[in-house]
Amino acid sequence: MKYQSTRGHPERRGFSDILLEGLAPDGGLYLPTHYPRIDAATLARWRGLPYHELAFEILSLYIDDIPPADLRELTTRTYTAAVFGTPEITPLKPLDRAASSPEGVDVYLQALSNGPTLAFKDMAMQLLGNLFEYELARRGETLNILGATSGDTGSAAEYAMRGKKGVNVFMLSPNGRMSPFQQAQMFSLQDANIHNIAIDGVFDDCQDIVKAVSNDLDFKRKHHIGTVNSINWARLLAQVVYYFAGYFQATRSNDESVSFAVPSGNFGNICAGHVARMMGLPIRYLVLATNENNVLDEFFRTGTYRVRGSAETHETSSPSMDISKASNFERFVFDLLGRDGERTKQLFKTEVEQRGSFSVSEDEFANTASFGFVSGTSTHADRLATIRDTYRRFGIVIDTHTADGLKVGREHLDWGVPMLVLETALPAKFAETIVEALGVQPDRPAAMRGIEDLPKRFVVMPVDTDAVKRYVSEHV
Ligand SMILES: *Cc1c(COP(=O)(O)O)cnc(C)c1O
Repeated sequence: MKYQSTRGHPERRGFSDILLEGLAPDGGLYLPTHYPRIDAATLARWRGLPYHELAFEILSLYIDDIPPADLRELTTRTYTAAVFGTPEITPLKPLDRAASSPEGVDVYLQALSNGPTLAFKDMAMQLLGNLFEYELARRGETLNILGATSGDTGSAAEYAMRGKKGVNVFMLSPNGRMSPFQQAQMFSLQDANIHNIAIDGVFDDCQDIVKAVSNDLDFKRKHHIGTVNSINWARLLAQVVYYFAGYFQATRSNDESVSFAVPSGNFGNICAGHVARMMGLPIRYLVLATNENNVLDEFFRTGTYRVRGSAETHETSSPSMDISKASNFERFVFDLLGRDGERTKQLFKTEVEQRGSFSVSEDEFANTASFGFVSGTSTHADRLATIRDTYRRFGIVIDTHTADGLKVGREHLDWGVPMLVLETALPAKFAETIVEALGVQPDRPAAMRGIEDLPKRFVVMPVDTDAVKRYVSEHV
């Protein structure tokens, strides 16, 4: 399997080469040159597999430069009940039952957030940590990951990379602006290779520093600076696995299809669903749910993609979906346009950069339906109502992002087709809104009780790129 850029660059590269990199040389994103099609016999064979074996089978189709025995060892070590809480890894929880619902649809939550940081980003990041360690050892190289976070990504990256050989993490966060729980999750890590840097500024200041450091090519090369952001293909690939795992749990035969509702921000999670569908997994709808930051819902309703300015970006109670542009969206548009790299480049490079928006043609827009996509928006009031309703009817407390998915998912039910709503975080992470909706504190997994009282390991710095560079060069 080779990988190509979404912007038409002629170079084709192997998995291990793109694993440690960000963008393609022309600024595009990497995609496989084709999606392997899964035939009925293969799907039938996969149905009985444990999660780590299913992961091995799917990854093998996209990775041919890691020996199979090594890859199998990596997936077996990553997807364990000890790390993800259950042998199913992403178990289903039933909500509405077909027999007693007017739509005749079984609605499930698919639990993706029982990993170490209680959000679905662990599903991919835990594998990435093991893949990075493996590949760096093979090359005799080291990598210093520099990132900015306001929550889920940073903690997932730190828990995936802690104690890994050859990797250091330097994670910038806005000082005093994360929730006490999220801050405790990150700052309580005592591993020598994890560096928390609290910047006296806002999230955008942190991101600007990361960009400034990355633009200093000499510094970047000298100190082996890399990232783990959501455009990394290996992260996306890891996420393809749970679409198959959810399908097998919700169906009895491969003649059935299911729909997925996906709380979306940067389009990483649902893009993995798109890849699964392109491989032939029987998916009826991919339901894209946004919060008030509805850049993507707007596209799937109108065919126009318009990025937002920072003044137009709302701070919401599902903060991990607060985006102004969707960094993985270019991957889907490339497929929508029949893999026309020149045109994709024109839309994302010329039109988005110059005008802040583009529109696809009417025919192209009509095609979004044949890719299974539908969409909707959910607001703060919807979240509160959905959290209350779910608690009242099923005794289950869901988090704010999952509530967005459930609300929009129920708007796209199709008679007899199970709807799997991806649970992207546990409510313990977003306690404030749970208290607003239910008047009680959400439960915490035992391992997370009292983490705010643990000793913290972090440094505070001003908004000063040179100070951060100095810190990095003294600690690599
Ligand atoms: C990151 C995140 C999302 C959005 O996922 P994308 O892949 O960016 O679309 C949704 N919910 C939670 C809890 C997240 O952490």
